[in-house]
Amino acid sequence: MKKGCDKISHLVSDAFDRKLSWLERIEVKIHLSMCSLCRSYANNIGVMHDIFSYIRHSDESGSTRLSQASKHKIKQILKEECDDKS
Ligand SMILES: [Zn+2]
Repeated sequence: MKKGCDKISHLVSDAFDRKLSWLERIEVKIHLSMCSLCRSYANNIGVMHDIFSYIRHSDESGSTRLSQASKHKIKQILKEECDDKS
C-alpha cells in the first residue's frame, strides 16, 4: 500500500458526507490517477464516476453535494459490500 492510501480512502468516503476542500479534491484526483489500488477501491464501491462527476460538477456550478439519489445508491452499494464480507 502506497503512502497516503489510508487518507485517500477516507477522503473518498468523506466526499459523500461533506464537501471536500479544493485541495482535498485535487489530492484525491491525483492520487487516483497514480494509484491502482485506490482506483480499484473506488471502482469497487462504485464511486469512481460519481467522484469525477462530483468534482467536475462542483467546479462548474459551485454545487457542493451529490444528489440524494447518488448518495442513496452509494450507501446501498457500500452496505452490500459489507454484507458480502461478513
Ligand atoms: Zn492509493
